[in-house]
Amino acid sequence: MEDTLEMKEAPAPRRLANWIGGRWEEAPEGAALAPVADPATGEVLALVPLGGAAEVGRAVAAAQEAFRGWSRTPVPARARLLFRYQALLSERREELAELLAAENGKSREEALGEVQRGIECVEFAAGAPTLLMGSQLPDIASGLESGMYRYPLGVVCGITPFNFPMMVPCWMFPLAVACGNAFVLKPSERTPLLACRLAELFAEAGFPPGVLSIVHGAREAVDALLAHPGIAAVSFVGSQPAAAAVYRRGAAEGKRVQALAGAKNFSLVLADADLPAAARQVAAAAFGSAGQRCMACAVVCVERGAAPEFLRLLLEQADAMRPAEGGGPAGIATPMIRCESRDRALALLEQALRGGAELLRDGRLDPAPPGSGSFLGPTIVVKVQEEMAVWQEELFAPVLCVAEIGGLEEGIELANRSPFANGACLYTDSARAVRRFREEIDAGMLGINIGVPAPMAFFPFSGWKGSFYGDLHANGRDGVEFYTRKKMVTARY
Ligand code: NAD
Repeated sequence: MEDTLEMKEAPAPRRLANWIGGRWEEAPEGAALAPVADPATGEVLALVPLGGAAEVGRAVAAAQEAFRGWSRTPVPARARLLFRYQALLSERREELAELLAAENGKSREEALGEVQRGIECVEFAAGAPTLLMGSQLPDIASGLESGMYRYPLGVVCGITPFNFPMMVPCWMFPLAVACGNAFVLKPSERTPLLACRLAELFAEAGFPPGVLSIVHGAREAVDALLAHPGIAAVSFVGSQPAAAAVYRRGAAEGKRVQALAGAKNFSLVLADADLPAAARQVAAAAFGSAGQRCMACAVVCVERGAAPEFLRLLLEQADAMRPAEGGGPAGIATPMIRCESRDRALALLEQALRGGAELLRDGRLDPAPPGSGSFLGPTIVVKVQEEMAVWQEELFAPVLCVAEIGGLEEGIELANRSPFANGACLYTDSARAVRRFREEIDAGMLGINIGVPAPMAFFPFSGWKGSFYGDLHANGRDGVEFYTRKKMVTARY
């Protein structure tokens, strides 16, 4: 899945290395390399090596070696290192956000927000002594007792997407290592820079070498991780076809797998909603981070009577979003990750327009930031047919489909027909409508009068249907369950 790039050649960009066994390991001469470009300027920030079985083999060997000592390190000692890591990440939040904004194209505010969400995952993992407690029953029969104890799995790996280079890896490795596992991370080849910095700070916090390794790469590295018998579990976050393939292959190899996938999130706006607030929330959820969030709003269904006023307010919000060079106020329009991503979204949009859909706002006409070839302004599509690809597929772009509905029931039915079911939002003032929505909507993360209902680190990130493959979700107690196995001891003394 390597994109080509519309980019400016900078003189000799630095070559990234793999972090294996606590040291940087350069890719050999002649290794395949991919450019990492700043989406806002096209500047090549670095070249990332595309590793495979050899690199994965060395990383797993180093992780296995580290696991022997790490899994026996007292849990409070592991927690103390996580507290130190949390402090280091907090001290460096500006630097991390800057790196993240450069490789991903987010605004400074969005990047800072993401860094904070990552830090919160480390805070949750630092609760390891409580999280890892087992349970006992002293009398299962006369003189007979039973207890449950938690243990790590061994070496586990994480494969992460481009759109949250800090938050998504932080869903995984802090909790996995808190549970006593060693972790091999394969970050997105499109945004690998932040992962390198996370590994450096991890070492600075005092974690032993090999507890966290980074192997850069794309499909070949993923295949090598899935095939490696030393990997006990796989945490994956990415597009739906890749998630489904990783889930199947990982399970066939006897691994535990959680695979978080793509999305097509619906928002329902009822006539009794606070319409200006709803328009603000929907615009931010649809167009923020260039629509490249798994919790982005992709379809908004508005109750007929409120539609003209809501669309007027939505348009006002979208018009106020402007591109800016570098950081800017929240709600700024930012570039998409690569030109190919924008071109794919535009192809589906144009197909819809040929089929009779119309543009309420044409983001193609917005001026792009200088140097960015992947910019698309906020785009609003009306008169969309349900069978159109623009409605059915995840565009992962700042494109919002609008539909008018007769009421809540029709909106729920429309949303429930989507093959995806990550998030869904309802805007209303009616408690009865909220209850009905909560009971009847087929989605795992619901927002009531808020646009991006991403759960915090102590709750599971719980997509349903085609948005998730597995049973234990990322984060929260699910994450602890995923990264541990249990021993039951039944004893008579
Ligand atoms: P992607 O599927 O292209 O890549 C994700 C990771 O998988 C990368 O590390 C990549 O190298 C690897 N990969 C790519 N193709 C693969 C394949 N065929 N087999 C195995 N591995 C493969 O995803 P992306 O474009 O980087 O990220 C955006 C996608 O991630 C969107 O679909 C978004 O909805 C999804 N996402 C989901 C969540 C969630 O919580 N459900 C969170 C963030 C992102």
